[in-house]
Amino acid sequence: MSAGPPFFRYHPDPLASGSIRTSADTCACCKRDTGWIYTATFYTAHEVNGRFCPWCIADGSAAQRFAGEFTDSYGLDGVSEDVLHEVTRRTPGFHAWQDPRWLVHCQDAAAYVGEVGYTELAAHPEALDQLRTEMRLDGWHDENQLEHFLTHLGDGASAMLFRCTVCGTHLAYADAS
Ligand SMILES: [Zn+2]
Ligand SMILES: [Zn+2]
Repeated sequence: MSAGPPFFRYHPDPLASGSIRTSADTCACCKRDTGWIYTATFYTAHEVNGRFCPWCIADGSAAQRFAGEFTDSYGLDGVSEDVLHEVTRRTPGFHAWQDPRWLVHCQDAAAYVGEVGYTELAAHPEALDQLRTEMRLDGWHDENQLEHFLTHLGDGASAMLFRCTVCGTHLAYADAS
């Protein structure tokens, strides 16, 4: 295969995020060796012998065949049924310490960028602000503690960075180990 994996609107660079990597493994769904394999989450009650190629994710065949989802619908509130299905059944999930959750902005699912530390997060001040606000609402009342947590992201805990597919703003949530 000369071309790379198919394009995923809600996970535009799964190679950078580590969810898809080059591999000589055979896909558990189509049984082909495409040169690429998916490495992150898949939730199913069925037994899956191996991993999937990105094409079987993109066309929905892996999710359909094994009645599974790459991402739980947790957090995907206020998006259309089509978007919900595209994210949970036709988009690569990602590696996280806790159960991954998908962020929403402008009533559309955001695109997953990757796991980042403070420096990368601070490059998107709006994402840092949004995370700070959310953590205050979550009960972080000690500002020093909160800033210490934020500035140490990437060292133990990290931030999951997304970009809105509509307005382009960045947003994030904190993933603790
Ligand atoms: Zn396949
Ligand atoms: Zn937006």
